[in-house]
Amino acid sequence: MPKVNVDECVGCGACVDVCPQDAIVVDDVAVIDDDKCVDCGACVDECPSSAIVE
Ligand code: SF4
Ligand code: SF4
Repeated sequence: MPKVNVDECVGCGACVDVCPQDAIVVDDVAVIDDDKCVDCGACVDECPSSAIVE
């Protein structure tokens, strides 16, 4: 499951837009709902700050 490195996240929202499950919300930093996430990896690839790691 992907995890957000809160020290690297800049809150840009790019991961929110790319997630097919609507599993991510941004409240200062991105938060992933593990119950919705299907581990597709799209957010990991999209994040410009490399703030999401598998
Ligand atoms: S791995 Fe896929 S489903 Fe999970 S939060 Fe990232 S984009 Fe959404
Ligand atoms: S794409 Fe990366 S930097 Fe932008 S909100 Fe998501 S985790 Fe944070």
